[in-house]
Amino acid sequence: ALTIGIVGLPNAGKSTLFNALTRNDVLAANYPFATIEPNVGVVGVPDARLPKLAEIFGSARILPATVQFVDIAGIVRGASEGEGMGNAFLSHIRESDAICQVTRVFRDEDVTHVDGKVDPSSDIETISTELILADLQTVENALPRLEKESKRDKSLAPQFAEAQKAAEVLGEGTGVFRAGLDLALLRDLHLLSAKKQLFVFNCDADELADEDLKNRMREIVAPAEAIFLDAKGEAELAELGDDEESEQLRAEMLADMGVEEPGLDALARVGFDTLGLQTYLTAGPKESRAWTIRKGATAPEAAGVIHTDFQKGFIKAEIVSFDDLVEAGSMNAAKAAGKVRMEGKDYVMADGDVVEFRFNV
Ligand code: GDP
Repeated sequence: ALTIGIVGLPNAGKSTLFNALTRNDVLAANYPFATIEPNVGVVGVPDARLPKLAEIFGSARILPATVQFVDIAGIVRGASEGEGMGNAFLSHIRESDAICQVTRVFRDEDVTHVDGKVDPSSDIETISTELILADLQTVENALPRLEKESKRDKSLAPQFAEAQKAAEVLGEGTGVFRAGLDLALLRDLHLLSAKKQLFVFNCDADELADEDLKNRMREIVAPAEAIFLDAKGEAELAELGDDEESEQLRAEMLADMGVEEPGLDALARVGFDTLGLQTYLTAGPKESRAWTIRKGATAPEAAGVIHTDFQKGFIKAEIVSFDDLVEAGSMNAAKAAGKVRMEGKDYVMADGDVVEFRFNV
């Protein structure tokens, strides 16, 4: 499964956020057989369509899509030179498919800041610089080998040329993704600055209400996504049960924070999207479920997510869009209204497709 690595300076609120994420853990509830590493949190992606499907099909349970977060401790200034957790830290980020930077915005005097003052843009700069310096080392180490190989095998010349460009932009302090380099040519180098990023700004209520401040932060990280949340508040929210009293308390806490939904929900959704993933839906009396596919996946590839045999023996997919299904009120009504399509092996899945696969066994 694809994972998002959580990084940030000490005291930014990473552990607090991670604890909130793992309390929301859907795996424990729905996949009791799964073994989970202690630093991995598997979070359900909230999807309001699933309860509706469950109602239409009388499903016994709901299984949302999930996104995995990994808590990567230990980035400090100098990490690229082996300070702090140094190399262990870098290899953990290398294994992640995207990076989530947690940045401190809350000012709480009782929580010290490594640099003595709360300055989000400077903190982002510190982390980004470490990622870039680590990449520069990687590229400089690889260049002599790439040069030799490209002399022997001319087809490798584009790789070598792109690595040279990478050394140049990294040396100027720009990441390879930002610089718009050809990431496919650089893939074998596993560069950190090639990864998609998203940013969590850890705020208290004051800052959550400060639209000017939020717009400034959005500008700093654009085109990456910015999520504003109160990690401490989210951790408290995540501890609440789902009895009536808890529901009421939850509503009050969200109102106090001035938000409509928990920040963790937004984080799960944006994280999922940042990873380049989308879902399709299946429904029946047993369960209503969202399945994870890459954007652009074809019908047989989507079938393969349920079972490899579904992909091998794929015949066709019976598909109705979620909206058409809800409007018709039942699968039979949707069929009668001509809203259920038969799609073949070249069909590219659309978000919100409700699917039943036909396959040979
Ligand atoms: P980490 O070093 O990045 O993992 O940071 P922690 O999650 O351990 O948080 C450091 C300290 O900041 C702890 O005392 C937290 O309770 C506190 N903290 C975390 N998030 C918030 C927040 O949103 N608001 C406030 N006021 N304090 C927070």
